[in-house]
Amino acid sequence: MEKYTKHFFNNIRKKLEEWEAAASIPHEEVYRFIHSMAGSASVLGLHKIGNRARELMDKHKEKDERTWTISEVKEELFDIIQYCYHYYEEESSELFPGKQSRDGEEPVVLLIDDDTSFLMYMKEELEKIGWYVVPIANPDKAVMSYYDVKPDCAIIDIYMDGTNGFEVLDFFKKKLKQQFIPTIMVSVENSKKVRMKSYQMGADDFIAKPFELDEFIVRVKRQMERKKQMEELVLIDELTRVYNRKYLSQAYAQVQSDWTRRGDSYCVAVLDLDHFKGVNDRYGHLMGDRVLKEFASHLKSETRIQDTVFRFGGEEFIILFPHTSIKEACTLVDDIRKRFSQLVFQADPDFSCTFSAGVAEIADPTKPFNTWLTLADHALYEAKSSGRNLVKLDGKAREHTPHKMLKIAIVDDDPIIRTVMRDIVSKLPSEQHTQYDIHTFKDGAAFIGSDWHEENPCLVILDGVMPKMDGLEVLEQLRSRSDSDRYKVLMLTSRKSERDISRSLQLGADDYMTKPFKLLELEARLGQMLKRMR
Ligand code: GH3
Ligand code: MG
Ligand code: MG
Repeated sequence: MEKYTKHFFNNIRKKLEEWEAAASIPHEEVYRFIHSMAGSASVLGLHKIGNRARELMDKHKEKDERTWTISEVKEELFDIIQYCYHYYEEESSELFPGKQSRDGEEPVVLLIDDDTSFLMYMKEELEKIGWYVVPIANPDKAVMSYYDVKPDCAIIDIYMDGTNGFEVLDFFKKKLKQQFIPTIMVSVENSKKVRMKSYQMGADDFIAKPFELDEFIVRVKRQMERKKQMEELVLIDELTRVYNRKYLSQAYAQVQSDWTRRGDSYCVAVLDLDHFKGVNDRYGHLMGDRVLKEFASHLKSETRIQDTVFRFGGEEFIILFPHTSIKEACTLVDDIRKRFSQLVFQADPDFSCTFSAGVAEIADPTKPFNTWLTLADHALYEAKSSGRNLVKLDGKAREHTPHKMLKIAIVDDDPIIRTVMRDIVSKLPSEQHTQYDIHTFKDGAAFIGSDWHEENPCLVILDGVMPKMDGLEVLEQLRSRSDSDRYKVLMLTSRKSERDISRSLQLGADDYMTKPFKLLELEARLGQMLKRMR
């Protein structure tokens, strides 16, 4: 970037910072600022900024008694602030040839290797072809990340500091076999012994390092295609042995074609275990799995022969009740609820579980299943917010209130980036029932010192380089907390600083992006992370 252009952007930054600290801003000052931008931007060839500034000059009078708040200024100058960012972006476009925008449907690869430069290289290369790569430098974190990431493929390095890749494979195999998630071992040790051990332990492929990237991609892709084909065939959830989500759409098609008698009524119930995360946290995931299995078999044995039970995903189940009124369905589900809450799980100490449920009537089978699911879902969330261990029926037009709060912190010392990012984040589509609370911080110390993020899951978009306390230090502090897994961290690092990226990964950043990045890219990345924080 030209020296003068840099200077120009720095002035904008400084002014915004100054205004952020002020309680109110005199109109004259805002006008003068727009005026000077109109002049210098055009000289520097930043025509979009210049034109917009001139438009604003026409819109506002030079003299006016009013004062501005910083949010009013940011709103009025938003186009200009965004153009500033686009100039960074253009600068970066040569650095990112062929990077595609993402739609959230790209294959997700979990890459586990303690060699951070390998992680960085692979992440960059694989993201170029449109895959989403979750880099894990700490093998202990790998096991946990399975639950968060739900990958389409896991690539595991065999020799890692502390943990052996085979231990990770062993866990993944037990767990992933249920879902046909391919595992690929990689290693510099390409001996017959290591290869045989990989295959004996159930790895789907072994790829020796160093490898040719194009061949590597073909081999990984082949595994993921196989997974897709398997999924197509399987209609039973392997863990709980009830039908899966895919069979649900087939079953609804059946309902649609069976619908002959007018006035007949079908119902759907959505059931969700209460505080199930707590079971995992307290008793471990294997116990969590046992509870899920037990829950599913309880549902199967307590429903009537004509009812069908589905695992919708995670700890959420669906029951389809044919020829049943909504009152009957509610009574049925409530009886199931009472009896399930009396089950005792043997552990240290013993515990029991409850679930909440929402029930809705399928009033018109010509409408898509989602219509009814949404109604039942609203009722479910009402049950959750009324204290859980409850069954609620759909109240049709009743307004529903989101019951989950998710915090998003933007920690960056550049006011241009803060403003643009806040805008992007506030426009992200929110997941069902989730409300976002967005907050910006101008440095690490301000974030760490704030008690705003003391509860709820929190996504932290963290600038690596900041005055006072830099991003790495903030990350380190977050990771040393006992409730560290409440925080997901997206690190923004400078492209030049491999050391910082590597350090971020070692310290447990969940993902990173190199600055300057494309806004589209950021949007996609945040979408991915939020999807996994539900
Ligand atoms: P709420 O009462 O609001 O539903 O709270 P919750 O803790 O049940 O809900 P939340 O959605 O926060 O957590 C669900 C957890 O279920 C998170 C995830 O790790 C866990 N989970 C999802 N699938 C599986 C699985 O197959 N096995 C195990 N053990 N845990 C799972
Ligand atoms: Mg739950
Ligand atoms: Mg849930």
